[in-house]
Amino acid sequence: MSHKALYREWRPSSFSEVVEQEHITKTLKRAVITGRIAHAYLFSGTRGTGKTTLAKIFARAVNCLHPNEGDPCNKCDICTKASEEVLVDIAEIDAASNNSVDNIRRICDEVNYMPALAKYKVYIIDEVHMLSTSAFNALLKTLEEPPAHVIFILCTTEPDKLPATVLSRCQRFDFHRITTKGISNRLRKIADAEKQQVTDEALDMISRISFGALRDAISLLDQCISSTDDTIDVTDVLNCAGLIDDMSNALVVQALVDNDVTGILNSVNEVIAEGKSPAGFLSGLLGYLRNILICMNVKEPDRFIEADGNAVSEMKRLSELMEPEEVIWYIKELSENEAVLKRASRPKTYLEIMLLGLLVKNTEKVQPKVQVKDKPVKKEVQKPEAVKPAVNETVKPVKTETKSDQNISWSKYIQDRFDKGSKDAFELLQSAIEISGNQAVVTVANDFLKSSLERNGVAVLEEIRGFSKDITNVRFVVAGTDKVAGSPEQQITEIGKKHNIPVEII
Ligand SMILES: [Zn+2]
Repeated sequence: MSHKALYREWRPSSFSEVVEQEHITKTLKRAVITGRIAHAYLFSGTRGTGKTTLAKIFARAVNCLHPNEGDPCNKCDICTKASEEVLVDIAEIDAASNNSVDNIRRICDEVNYMPALAKYKVYIIDEVHMLSTSAFNALLKTLEEPPAHVIFILCTTEPDKLPATVLSRCQRFDFHRITTKGISNRLRKIADAEKQQVTDEALDMISRISFGALRDAISLLDQCISSTDDTIDVTDVLNCAGLIDDMSNALVVQALVDNDVTGILNSVNEVIAEGKSPAGFLSGLLGYLRNILICMNVKEPDRFIEADGNAVSEMKRLSELMEPEEVIWYIKELSENEAVLKRASRPKTYLEIMLLGLLVKNTEKVQPKVQVKDKPVKKEVQKPEAVKPAVNETVKPVKTETKSDQNISWSKYIQDRFDKGSKDAFELLQSAIEISGNQAVVTVANDFLKSSLERNGVAVLEEIRGFSKDITNVRFVVAGTDKVAGSPEQQITEIGKKHNIPVEII
């Protein structure tokens, strides 16, 4: 028996099964219920976010004999034939391989005939931006005066490449990247139904490295399932994903962009656990930043970058989130420390401090007391005119809300304490602490913060404790701890014992 790919097997068959994208499913359902169907739709968004899936559901819904509140019944003759892909009235065309004017002319001739069985003839054109200019012109003629029984659904990952004349004829929907939480939940459902044991951490890892593409995430889970009979854990995921250097570098750069301390610590841990040396990792990261810089400055970066297509697209995506000055600054800061890292007695800790130091320096820019080198200010990235604001939201994978909420309320809490007169270690508390779930990470990356910790270690722990009793793990990342007098560590450990908080000093 041949194995049916999990993502095909688990492709949603109704609007309500689709993960997220509610802004689209709601409107399409409404269109089916009211019968106000447009003749051309544009589905745009990054790969694996459900464009083709929704196009297929919509094609069935408009033709279904017994639609249920806008959803297709998936039982009637039309739905069944459509699902088996034998309904001649629904056609899916891959524009990447059928991009000539003749291909499109054939479709434009066909649309003049009435549908064979269904109410509407639906043409789903995937990767529509691949059409040639003359093919677009031929299509435009039909889009200008479409017969009443025809619906075009144009899907694309690159809407900017479509002629404005075509864009203006379409009702447009921008698909968002799916949140890691949305992906994890879906994967959990699939794994349970497939009776496959898999740890939560493994699912989180799959979600993170899929960058919002649910289809990629399900395919990776599929691969993991075929590779082991046991419970799938993080190591299995890393092995299956061939967590190549580019992927881990991408995660680190994304964490730098997001000011995500936990993200950086996780990535470093994973890379070191994989057996890579900190120095090797740093030199790889420098090469990766160089590639991002190339993406910013060269039209066809693929010629200068040795990496596969997906990796290059990821670099391009990251390059849009930063300014060249910022990348150069990262490269400079990291290169200056490369030699020191090679001689460091605890290279992993030093690597973490270097990376976290980049974040702290960024935050400290608002603290006039601290002398740091200026980091270039990130400017708003210029977006092409034709792009609607909604498209911007698709650029970054959405992070889980709870985490940023926690940090926002932490920030408010500290400001409030400061206003009430508690001024001890204010800089440290305000800029060096990241809270995620039950963990607080205190990053002490320069002498100023170090001496503050020396004086106020106890106060820091008590503030964290006062903020939330749910924080059961406090982690201190301290640069060159041996240079600090032993007292703060002892004090911290003491107070940790007293309040029953496990404290880890690295
Ligand atoms: Zn039906």
